[in-house]
Amino acid sequence: MKSQRLYYTDSYTTRFKANIIERVEANGRHAVILDQTYFYPTSGGQPHDTGRLNDTAVTNVTIREEDGAILHWLGKGEIWFDAVVGIIDWTRRFDHMQQHTGQHILSQAFLQTAEAETIGFHLSDNSVTIDLNSLDLQSEQIEQAEFLANQVIWQNRLIKVRWVTAEQAQKLPLRKIPPVREGKLRLIEIDKFDLTACGGTHTAATGSVGLIKIIKLERRRDKLRVEFACGQRALQDYRLKNSIVNNLTAQLTTGAPEILTTVTKMQVEAKENRRLIKRQQSALLKMQAQELWDTAVKQGSITLINHVFRDDELDLGQLRALSNQITRQNSQTITLLGIAGKKSFLMFNRSSDAPGEMNQLLKVAMQVLGSDAGGGSAMTAQGGGPAADTDKVKQAIDRAEKVLQGQIR
Ligand SMILES: [Zn+2]
Repeated sequence: MKSQRLYYTDSYTTRFKANIIERVEANGRHAVILDQTYFYPTSGGQPHDTGRLNDTAVTNVTIREEDGAILHWLGKGEIWFDAVVGIIDWTRRFDHMQQHTGQHILSQAFLQTAEAETIGFHLSDNSVTIDLNSLDLQSEQIEQAEFLANQVIWQNRLIKVRWVTAEQAQKLPLRKIPPVREGKLRLIEIDKFDLTACGGTHTAATGSVGLIKIIKLERRRDKLRVEFACGQRALQDYRLKNSIVNNLTAQLTTGAPEILTTVTKMQVEAKENRRLIKRQQSALLKMQAQELWDTAVKQGSITLINHVFRDDELDLGQLRALSNQITRQNSQTITLLGIAGKKSFLMFNRSSDAPGEMNQLLKVAMQVLGSDAGGGSAMTAQGGGPAADTDKVKQAIDRAEKVLQGQIR
């Protein structure tokens, strides 16, 4: 292997000296390969480290497939000297160590409490998950696994790295048996609790993981995805949720355990209120329709209703409902209705057996309002215009009514 991976035996060193043994360029970006490195490259579900080589930022670290060399990708520029001092961003590295070590503990805990095997692991900047091969876990089993994992943390068990041959590995009770490769296998042993093959960075004892909290379960086709948080991430998650709960208890003036019942009660009330409003709106609509009907002008068998509302009395939806209500429930009826205000609006309707071309009438009326917007059919037409007062809208409707008189005769 080209570069010596120092992080294999020591996860805690963050400052080291090394020599550049190769320079690589790809897509306008520069990378260097060192004779030895503490930088962890993206692999095994754990993201890469970041940091610096001399004064140059290291923004990505990858493994070159062909020979396993570790590529340190530089943020900007190149490094001219061969001798470098490497510095690892410890905040990021320690976060990865906490999450990754926590994953080993939680995976073993699920195995012991529920015989559920971990078949996947994913760690990113904002989430940590494992996939279990068991779908039918009860909530008590989840809690048992979580509790066992935290007990192992509180016991502060030592975590050691062991190197064995593939042959030796066969005889060991490994949680995860990796594909056979050349050379030695790196095993991570949590004292008297877990033994597994892994290439990642881990804490020296379980206590450094701090806390493991399961956050969310997601059932997928053939697996159960368990999202969790360890250490600092668990603290951040607790802070966020605590602040949400405190805000809710203050707003709802209730205790934390009662939040759910309070919200459920409010939802039921809101639903009941919406039903009540709907009933009252429909009653109001009938009354308004009746009121308009009383002002109607009769021309032989035809009933003609001509009326302007102010925009604080009625909105567009209500006008449409009102107009439909009248013309659908009465025969030989025509409604020429309008809204005056910051925006004007006209809605012309007739029952199917009444005469008149509503789209033609609308065109005439819209001209009075200075607009050519809107249209419709012989039975129904609508259009919106600029601001207009009640007199102006009335004038427009009256003009339409005059044309209508001609159409009726
Ligand atoms: Zn690991």
